[in-house]
Amino acid sequence: MKKVAVIGAGISGLSIAHCLKDRYQVKLFETASQPGGLIKCERVNGNLYHIVGGHVFNSKRQEVLDWFWSFFDRENEFVKANRNATVFLDKPIGYPIENHIYEMNGDLQEKIIADLISIAKNEQVTPPNFEEFLKLRFGNTLYDIYFKPYNEKIWKQDLSEIPLGWLEGKLPMPSVEEIIFNNFSKEEETKMVHSSFYYAKTNGSQFLADRLAENVEVVYNAEIKNINKNKDNTKWVVNEEDFDLIVYTGNVKVLPDIFSTDSILKFKPELENLVYHGTTSVLCEIEKNPYSWIYMPDKKHHSHRIICTGNFADSNNATDRATGTIEFTDYVDKATILNNLRQIPYSPRYIEHRYTEYTYPVQTADTRITIQKLKEQLEIQGIYLLGRFAEWEYYNMDAAMGAAIDLSKRI
Ligand SMILES: Cc1cc2nc3c(=O)[nH]c(=O)nc-3n(C[C@H](O)[C@H](O)[C@H](O)COP(=O)(O)OP(=O)(O)OC[C@H]3O[C@@H](n4cnc5c(N)ncnc54)[C@H](O)[C@@H]3O)c2cc1C
Repeated sequence: MKKVAVIGAGISGLSIAHCLKDRYQVKLFETASQPGGLIKCERVNGNLYHIVGGHVFNSKRQEVLDWFWSFFDRENEFVKANRNATVFLDKPIGYPIENHIYEMNGDLQEKIIADLISIAKNEQVTPPNFEEFLKLRFGNTLYDIYFKPYNEKIWKQDLSEIPLGWLEGKLPMPSVEEIIFNNFSKEEETKMVHSSFYYAKTNGSQFLADRLAENVEVVYNAEIKNINKNKDNTKWVVNEEDFDLIVYTGNVKVLPDIFSTDSILKFKPELENLVYHGTTSVLCEIEKNPYSWIYMPDKKHHSHRIICTGNFADSNNATDRATGTIEFTDYVDKATILNNLRQIPYSPRYIEHRYTEYTYPVQTADTRITIQKLKEQLEIQGIYLLGRFAEWEYYNMDAAMGAAIDLSKRI
């Protein structure tokens, strides 16, 4: 059997290892001492802490679902829940906000209705950027009270500078007729991938990573800093062992340092320019509430959402108080976090926080072209890119699994 080295044991690395292991001898190398990458969780004072996010699973792709459930017992190991998200204005409003205009005060309702009528009357134009997209789709009032402040907190950028291509396929596209219909009929959103979701009964997304790390060979505490050719130039040497092929799931920005061949080094300037954001995730005790996600456009504080991880599984809470992860974009220090928590609904009480530098890849107009050119160059040499920061794609777990399934068919 030919040998494949997989760099990284996050969801992408673990998935590709399983997809290839019947045809190749596969070994994973992972910097950390446990599997999972971005989906890692820890226990803090008995509470489950998603170090990033609060990962839930579902997929619109049947092939991914079949693949995923071949590793797990859906009935006994998972709970299934419907998304119960809210946008917290001065009170909780249902999510998505455009379907719950009827819950707002009369003044706001009148303004939003006038906006929708004027959108319906206007001719369809192609919006040049994210700001115009949101205004043309939802009207100025919803833009001002929610879409603008919420998105500015996440992206830390003027929304008029965000090209639309960046969010392709990820944006809700309801027509005015649909918005009105959904408000009259109180229709719930079912099109989004996480409108219902699965969550492990114990240990959250770490349970997924731990299970997928079974029956594959993972070398932990093994950060791969260099990969060179062997003496006769036929194989790649990883951790002093020869391999025929490499699947790289780490950060593409550091790829030129790892391989340092001319064909890869020439991409260094473009890779250095790739834009991204990090996340500061704060584990808190919060008041009991019925929600899965609470979105917070309020400008009084910098956090954009609470993921109510304590509501996903009872075993996530050490006491009868609920826990949740409060998210801030980029680095925030502890004093600022504590100040902000005072302005956040549901009386959050700080337990722990962590900053992760790479959480959101940002695609600009050139990103996909650059990565595609790099992939073509690498694949000639037996190196494949896979995963959120290797491909600089805004993947959810299921999209990462799908990308692994697709890649395994090509290798
Ligand atoms: C805030 C947030 C919330 C999210 N919520 C959800 C959700 O609810 N549901 C969902 O489906 N998805 C969610 N996602 C997306 C999900 O986290 C990603 O799709 C997924 O974790 C990406 O996995 P990956 O393996 O591609 O990358 P990573 O998880 O980054 O894994 C890469 C791994 O490679 C290792 N590595 C890197 N370089 C080296 C090296 N040189 N040597 C050895 N090892 C190396 C790293 O240590 C890491 O373990 C969320 C993401 C974020 C940021």
